[in-house]
Amino acid sequence: MEWEPTEEDLEWTKSILTTLEMNQDWMEGEMAFRRTGENTLALLTRTERAAEPAERVKIVLAELDWELDEEHVQVIPDDPQAAAEMMQQSAESWTCPECNEHRVVNMDLEDVSWQVKGDTNYVDDEGNMQTYDRWVVTILCECGEPVYLTPDDYYLVAGEFNFYTWRFVDREGVAWIARVMNPEQVVESIDSGFLEQLNARHLGTTFQGDTVPPHMRGTFCILIQVAALEEEE
Ligand SMILES: [Zn+2]
Repeated sequence: MEWEPTEEDLEWTKSILTTLEMNQDWMEGEMAFRRTGENTLALLTRTERAAEPAERVKIVLAELDWELDEEHVQVIPDDPQAAAEMMQQSAESWTCPECNEHRVVNMDLEDVSWQVKGDTNYVDDEGNMQTYDRWVVTILCECGEPVYLTPDDYYLVAGEFNFYTWRFVDREGVAWIARVMNPEQVVESIDSGFLEQLNARHLGTTFQGDTVPPHMRGTFCILIQVAALEEEE
């Protein structure tokens, strides 16, 4: 390919690289990178059609004496159906990175914890660098080691119901489960006059001292005490 970066391309990329800390992610178009070394970026994923943009990033990096590590890149098919199938298949094969024995799909996918670990940079439509929290879902493997998943990966293996169920511990140390009510359930419980008996809440960005995971914000949830649930069982 006979593509040559302009001075602007170089400056722009340089400005991003200088803000990237070790292990920090950078999303650009349909590509995801992570800084893995002093002068190394790893290409984590890209779509099929982002082959050329990725090639251009590689050229720019080379000009800046950086290296692009493409060894473990996951190429996502452009066809949405094929992409979904590929992701589903790969999710089923994930194993615990520590023992390499237990498959993630077979783990206790209900009892997980949501935490913010580090942040991710991206460039918004106006060309400004923005940062957002990187959320991580922690699952405990039978070998005793934690397995960390991104929220998207957790959704893939655990499904919608588990994804919209959030376990947290309040200020008094009481464990709770917040379960999102779908619109029909809300309407039904209002109509039947049952809503007041439910411990139902609208979640904002924080709840009882905990930061609410982004996908739970703005939802209407039933709150259940874990202790009460275990007594029932
Ligand atoms: Zn394990």
